[in-house]
Amino acid sequence: DDSYEEECDYLFKAVLIGDSAVGKSNLLSRFSNDEFRLDSKPTIGVEFAYRNVKIADKIIKAQIWDTAGQERFRAITSSYYRGALGALLVYDITRRATFDNVKKWLRELREFGNLDMVVVLVGNKCDLGQSREVDEEEGKNLAESEGLCFMETSALENLNVEAAFLQMIGKIHEITS
Ligand code: GDP
Ligand code: MG
Repeated sequence: DDSYEEECDYLFKAVLIGDSAVGKSNLLSRFSNDEFRLDSKPTIGVEFAYRNVKIADKIIKAQIWDTAGQERFRAITSSYYRGALGALLVYDITRRATFDNVKKWLRELREFGNLDMVVVLVGNKCDLGQSREVDEEEGKNLAESEGLCFMETSALENLNVEAAFLQMIGKIHEITS
């Protein structure tokens, strides 16, 4: 893709975090090359993907880091967070435990990450409404009380995926420019 070769005005690092199998890798593959996988390949994670975004005639290269499944062993290290200006903190709306763990992920973010990191709380798999265990309202309320942005997404149906990443990237751009 030619856009990867384009000159950019800014380069940002952002990270994906959240429990195993919530859809982090599929959100990233949707955003970076519009792909979705039905099978989960937790051990073959890419390190990161790039995508260029144009905001107010500036080209921003977003470098988004994905885990290679280390989250299953709670083995994400501080180097994963180093230099990151943003994070998508993802849970699965059909598994309450992944929502309950959001607080744990926030503690880790605040311990290892930048204090002014832009965090978007993402409730993924909103296509599975019939199996929903976490109301949208609960996600919104948690985000509000923790000072995060919020969005429900479906990587499967490509709902709000672009919007979630762009909200994060736009906010980072606001803060850093
Ligand atoms: P990760 O461990 O957080 O990176 O999760 P993956 O991206 O590997 O996804 C885990 C599983 O959930 C895979 O079987 C995906 O196909 C599935 N999945 C991911 N996103 C969605 C979604 O939005 N809707 C549905 N129905 N399934 C999804
Ligand atoms: Mg993954």
